Amino acid sequence: MESIEARLALLERWRQLNDEVQRHGARLLAVSKYAPDEAVDALVEAGCLDFAESRPQRLRDRSQRWPCCAWHMIGPLQRNKAKYVARHATMWHSLEDIDTARAVARYVQDRVLPVLIQVNLSDDPQRHGVSPRQLPQLYQELGDIPELKPVGLMTMAPLHMNARDIFSRLRRLRDELFDGSLAELSMGMSHDFHDALQEGASMVRIGSLLFGDWDIRKSLR
Ligand SMILES: *Cc1c(COP(=O)(O)O)cnc(C)c1O
Repeated sequence: MESIEARLALLERWRQLNDEVQRHGARLLAVSKYAPDEAVDALVEAGCLDFAESRPQRLRDRSQRWPCCAWHMIGPLQRNKAKYVARHATMWHSLEDIDTARAVARYVQDRVLPVLIQVNLSDDPQRHGVSPRQLPQLYQELGDIPELKPVGLMTMAPLHMNARDIFSRLRRLRDELFDGSLAELSMGMSHDFHDALQEGASMVRIGSLLFGDWDIRKSLR
């Protein structure tokens, strides 16, 4: 159990970050993948409504425990976990291949799931996301899946590259290929969210900077 001081410090960090992100017209997603339930509880009480998880089962569990909040799926997805995303995610940020997209769509019921296509703008083809070259085809194929609605693009800037340049490229790719029809740009994490806001991010995903010491991995060590 963390101290009252730690709880107040977490809330203060959230308020400051949230104010800054909102001033730029963007939305702060609290990445709770390493945060314990008590930390999520504290933020929910303070009014935080947007959370992101990278593990499908955890996303399911937490979306059921805090159904008032939006739960964004941001991690790589294996096809055998597709149903958790289909049933419990508010938005799926990490769509990167059509087969997994079809697997998710099969479990979507009574709604249309908003999705973002993850784009790999790094110099490393092993990283997650489609290349800019593959993006138009994937987008076109998604047109045949009525259960999923593409609403934007997502990317991660590798540490060794210039983040601002990566975010600028994602925005230009969106503007050039989609003529402004995809509104959402999910980009920016703890160490580079300022750059992302400057380049027009609509959502930033912040974990370690927000939760700080509240890291469940510490208790496992
Ligand atoms: C973990 C994670 C984040 C948050 O990273 P921090 O550096 O802790 O802010 C953002 N996006 C994705 C896809 C992640 O997996």
